[in-house]
Amino acid sequence: MPEKCRVAVLGAGASGLAQLRAFEAARRAGIPADTLPDVVCYEKQSDWGGIWNYTWRTGLDEFGEPVHSSMYRYLWSNAPKECLEFADYTFLEHFGKALPSFPPRVVLWDYITGRLKKSDVRKYICFCTVVRWVEFDEERQKFRVTVKDLKGDVTRTEEFDWVVVATGHFSVPHFPVYPGMDKFPGRILHSHDFRDAAEFAGKNVMVIGRSYSAEDIAVQCHKYGAASVIISSRRGPFGFDWPPGITERPLLRELQGKTAHFRDGSTAEVDVIILATGFQHHFPFLPDTLRLQTANLFYPPNLYKGIFWNNNPRLIYLGMQDQCFTFPLFDAQAWYARDVILGRITLPGREERGRDAAPWREREAAWTPAQKDEGIMIHFQGEYVQDLLDATDYPKFDVQAMVRTFEDWEHQKVGKGGILTYRDKAYKSLITGCMAPEHHTKWMEERDDSFDNFIHGPAKN
Ligand code: FAD
Ligand code: NAP
Repeated sequence: MPEKCRVAVLGAGASGLAQLRAFEAARRAGIPADTLPDVVCYEKQSDWGGIWNYTWRTGLDEFGEPVHSSMYRYLWSNAPKECLEFADYTFLEHFGKALPSFPPRVVLWDYITGRLKKSDVRKYICFCTVVRWVEFDEERQKFRVTVKDLKGDVTRTEEFDWVVVATGHFSVPHFPVYPGMDKFPGRILHSHDFRDAAEFAGKNVMVIGRSYSAEDIAVQCHKYGAASVIISSRRGPFGFDWPPGITERPLLRELQGKTAHFRDGSTAEVDVIILATGFQHHFPFLPDTLRLQTANLFYPPNLYKGIFWNNNPRLIYLGMQDQCFTFPLFDAQAWYARDVILGRITLPGREERGRDAAPWREREAAWTPAQKDEGIMIHFQGEYVQDLLDATDYPKFDVQAMVRTFEDWEHQKVGKGGILTYRDKAYKSLITGCMAPEHHTKWMEERDDSFDNFIHGPAKN
């Protein structure tokens, strides 16, 4: 009897879970169990959900491994949930009622793990198991995956036909250094280690960066009582109508004691520096020949369909792009990868794979800063998701309508006062047509980010 095909999924965040769900969907659709591969998922944390699995810890975890999550206590979704909805498992199906459009972290964690709980998929996941090394045996045409069971303190190696890398790329900080940091008499941290904005109440905070972490951490610090917030960036202002208390400056040049000197010659006194300067794609378990090396791009290099490692397409990467679309994108990729593994989709040869990726990469490389500010990446990623969806049986949904919701959301943010109020808006589900109600409390006044408060309303005493 031929050996059963074996698939290793590395990581049980939203991407890895999408891969497990895709195989489960095939099983439910009646594909005979003996034609489905054996799937094993390795997850270094003790629970699933990836960076949505919040921890108060920073630095190292209980096993001495780097803490994975970059999320903080009062994190609320920065995009409407209607742009994050699984077409095969809606918010309405999971929660049984219509909910406001911008949920707090714990609610989204419940949603992304909820559809896995409905099937017996957890048994495929080896928790507290870190992947240490992956190599490809050319002779046997198999991957050897070496993992460590962190609780048992035992290392073992297993063979697989396919490896799916779903270990995320918003976890290992990119940490630029500025002169004077070593003598700065205050706290310096990366957004990866930011946990509780209330810690900075009364402080003069400087946030460096000009993307989602910078904007959200600046607003969080303002909301929780920072004396002032300066956003320092190299790309110029965001264009938001910031409230009094948040200002923008050019990039930091150097620090002299507590005094920050900016590139335009201006200065400011700061107590705390938060580097919201992004993350590294970091795969310490992969040799150079298999390792994706990239900046945070919408179409990373050497990946056919943004998924398959071109030099060895049995190595699959999920969720490695910069992200407007998140959960629907991971699903679209996971279904496509599943169908390639099941032999339903045949991969073209190496040259053709390269030719397919080239125009996508050229388009991204040609974007001007103005086009980026206008959100060209939303359209690009919508097209990419549609391209993948067209090839599989993932439930169809109106990707262009999702693009339009993203655009509306971006416009809300830049409107008058919008950066503080955009989370108060309600959107219509593009899968069920269900209209979201407004949250009972304006986001700027809301201090309770608990599951119960969001789902059931404020506690009655
Ligand atoms: P991750 O969630 O990072 O999961 C990767 C998993 O791999 C983790 O569980 C990790 O423990 C595991 N792992 C890593 N290395 C190993 C190893 N060597 N061995 C074993 N396991 C390993 N998206 C939204 O849609 N809405 C939001 O509001 C939003 N907010 C965000 C806020 C922050 C601060 C950040 C950083 C990102 C946010 N995102 C948001 C984007 C986020 O990237 C995606 O929502 C999603 O979590 C990505 O899932 P993933 O599975 O690809 O990666
Ligand atoms: P990011 O989008 O990769 O942005 C990194 C930023 O760092 C960029 O603005 C970049 O500047 C800047 N930067 C890099 N190197 C620099 C240097 N040497 N000097 C100055 N600036 C530098 O990373 P991110 O903002 O952390 O976002 C990561 C993910 O987290 C996104 O998916 C986002 O949606 C998510 N997120 C969500 C929430 C939420 O839901 N509430 C909150 C935070 C983050 P340039 O622009 O000049 O290149």
